[in-house]
Amino acid sequence: MIRRWLHKVLGKPSGPSKPRIYPLEQHGIRREGIHSCALKVTRTLKEAGYTAFVVGGAVRDLLLNREPKDFDIATDATPEEVRKLFRRARIIGRRFQIVHVYCGADTIEVTTFRAHQGEEDEDRVTAADGMILRDNVFGAQHEDAIRRDFTVNALYYDPVTQEVWDYHGGFADAKNHVLRMIGDPATRFREDPVRMLRAARFAAKLDFHIDATTRAPIAELAPMLARIPASRLFDEMMKLLLSGHAERGVRQLRAEGLHHGVLPMLDAILDNPGRQKFLHAAMHDTDERVRNGQSASPAFMLACLLWFDMQEQFERLHDSGLPEHPALFAAMDDTLERQRTALAFPRRLDGTIKEIWALQARFNQRSGARPLRLLAHPRFRAGYDFLLLRARGGDSAAELAEWWARFQDAGDDERNSMLKPVGEEGAKRRKRRPRRKAAATDSGSDA
Ligand code: ATP
Ligand code: MG
Repeated sequence: MIRRWLHKVLGKPSGPSKPRIYPLEQHGIRREGIHSCALKVTRTLKEAGYTAFVVGGAVRDLLLNREPKDFDIATDATPEEVRKLFRRARIIGRRFQIVHVYCGADTIEVTTFRAHQGEEDEDRVTAADGMILRDNVFGAQHEDAIRRDFTVNALYYDPVTQEVWDYHGGFADAKNHVLRMIGDPATRFREDPVRMLRAARFAAKLDFHIDATTRAPIAELAPMLARIPASRLFDEMMKLLLSGHAERGVRQLRAEGLHHGVLPMLDAILDNPGRQKFLHAAMHDTDERVRNGQSASPAFMLACLLWFDMQEQFERLHDSGLPEHPALFAAMDDTLERQRTALAFPRRLDGTIKEIWALQARFNQRSGARPLRLLAHPRFRAGYDFLLLRARGGDSAAELAEWWARFQDAGDDERNSMLKPVGEEGAKRRKRRPRRKAAATDSGSDA
């Protein structure tokens, strides 16, 4: 509290402390676009004598006539003060303390204005190379603005007065579709290298041009991403891949030289034309799903990204004498474990990823009662979608995909006529597979 008061009295020399204020006629953001819970939270805070703004991505998206993903609130009330004002609210986080306010099934994140300040401060720890390790210092609103990443992410909207406060020219940048870093780009990327990935993600999502000065240091600083904890990299990559703009996002990563080392498998896939086709089909479909308001699952995306690795591993194990069924299961486990060292994806996804893969083997079984059993499998849809992608990706599954498309829609008589004679399938299974062909997919095991 004392520190906050001192900051308020003394102010900070860095960056503009007076915002440019835009009234409704100029920004055109309508109150109806704001989530009712965010309206309630800002109003309650203001009635209690604090300042409160909708901030970050929501203001940016509304200004661009896009639908915001979520609504964040920034205020000069401390987390404890915020918590006391709401019946259902909880302080969370250690590195950054924020308050979650709950309204029905929705959650609004409320953050106290934070300062971006010198290394001497006890609450801020910076590593020798400029990376911020801990950052929990409250500050004034203009200080909160300067520690944000891009100018378009540092706009504050007050739903009560209907004003937009702009400290860094984000309003003009939004209108001109420019992504510009606040402050010195190299310093800001060094502080938090993830901002480089964010630059690529926002440029893709918003269809913005990355300002030349902001872009310049990225190529040189890209290797700093290797120092980011694997779990944070995973979160950021999933945001990019499930944003509805994965195709453009990955293209942007490549253009900035950021794909090396971010996702080891992304590297391998993008540099291999045979694999590229499949991944692009996967990203294209996911983008469409997200844009149509359908869900897109991290497990499905990971199953796509790791598919080739898993198949190669399966081939190795099978060729070294392991029967198909154990080889498939060992290959799935090996692949997931190996990837986890580079990219900390949660173990709870393993089950779904493995099911999607194992189903690929079961699609080959087209005799007897097995196809009907498979139709009733709870993950049939995900497995089938994956099969369709393989077909489009040029992985010899086209005939199989077509068969399953017909089988699903067919009546009983047609289904019966489509089933393969049991003996024929068995004979095929005993035949030696040609090397390097859709390995796990012609396993005859009932996974
Ligand atoms: P999205 O639409 O993806 O949610 P967003 O801009 O809201 O975009 P968030 O990750 O939700 O992004 O972060 C909210 C705000 O917090 C950002 O707009 C930005 O002002 C600030 N912010 C988030 N991450 C960083 C960072 N690494 N460095 C600086 N500021 C950040
Ligand atoms: Mg957000």
